[in-house]
Amino acid sequence: MTTFGELAPPVRVLMGPGPSDIHPRVLRALACNTIGHLDPHYLELMNQLQQMLRQVFQTRNQLTFAVSGTGSAGMECAVVNLVEPDDVMLVCVNGVFGSRMADVAARAGARVVTIQRPWGEVFTPEEVEQAVKTHRPKLVGIVMAETSTGASQPLEEVAEVVHRHGGMILVDAVTSLGGMPVLVDQWGLDVVYSGSQKCLSCPPGLAPITFGPRAVEVIQNRKTKVQSWYLDATMLSQYWGDERVYHHTAPINMTYALYEALRLILEEGLENVFARHLLNHHALRAGLEALGLEFTAQEGHRLPMLNAVRVPEGVDDATVRKELLERFGIEIGGGLGQFKGRAWRIGLMGYGARPQNVLLLLGALEQLLAEQGHRFRPGTAVATANEVYQQQQAVSAS
Ligand SMILES: *Cc1c(COP(=O)(O)O)cnc(C)c1O
Repeated sequence: MTTFGELAPPVRVLMGPGPSDIHPRVLRALACNTIGHLDPHYLELMNQLQQMLRQVFQTRNQLTFAVSGTGSAGMECAVVNLVEPDDVMLVCVNGVFGSRMADVAARAGARVVTIQRPWGEVFTPEEVEQAVKTHRPKLVGIVMAETSTGASQPLEEVAEVVHRHGGMILVDAVTSLGGMPVLVDQWGLDVVYSGSQKCLSCPPGLAPITFGPRAVEVIQNRKTKVQSWYLDATMLSQYWGDERVYHHTAPINMTYALYEALRLILEEGLENVFARHLLNHHALRAGLEALGLEFTAQEGHRLPMLNAVRVPEGVDDATVRKELLERFGIEIGGGLGQFKGRAWRIGLMGYGARPQNVLLLLGALEQLLAEQGHRFRPGTAVATANEVYQQQQAVSAS
């Protein structure tokens, strides 16, 4: 008879594209005793979770909740509720997640048109306007933080252009929410979804989502049923709203975890959270550049929480990532799609965005790159990153 070993996952420093390091308070929340999903205590927890989600999304949208599923379920929920068969949806594709969105939309019966940008670049409002004028889409889908390339897409003007031509804008904020401002109301975003395991410092399993007034109106006036029973926002709103109509059993302990994760973010303060992501990004970036590594994303449009750099000439991608994991317990991401084997994706997400992680990774990378024969001044990465932290301390002290 086979015996199965006790569960003993190694302790890792998660610095890839997600999942990211989980805050100890979130882990403790997961281990709390499970209660019924219609228990009054749980219902109150759902209400409070929705209130906190509205604060993090910076929105007053009533229809704001967490989909039981990962970020991709959030994507699917956003799309299937707004799309009816033969609706035109324009999807902006400059990486893996834009392509995924186009696939999801086509499966939902949309007539999908795409515009493309080289990986690492972002879309201008003019480009989107041109396509919107030509195709007159009901819906424009765009990724705010393209985790496959590290590019940061500005949204405010794009949203304005889409609305001027009578469309709605659907935004993937899986990697951005909790790490940089996602101003749902101020920018007029119509539907925005995220995921629990990136900058929210939570395990994977829940997808926060919010629908604005235009989206709600479109949903209320649908001619056809939403193609997915599980992701039907109207049915889900009756579960999350006052009616409490049983729909599915919410993952109770994941709700605890997200509750605690959002509480942590609000305790620290959104502005402080964003500043912390930026500071650690600046330190990491200075260290990586001191090693001669180049970012894949366009200058001026680099994400603080996802640092994608080219694997330097003569260095073996797989060896470095394997040794980082085995010798230093650090996980970083390899390249996806056309960046496979050619890029490293280094996450500084949520609880993971802290100096310990930055300095540990830079120290380990110095070691491994030296072994691979990559030339640089020993100690330079850690020293350069430390300078950034010291400058920051000087600024805050003055
Ligand atoms: C991670 C990610 C997703 C998918 O989320 P899963 O939780 O893996 O399903 C979607 N969009 C972006 C931008 C992501 O980074």
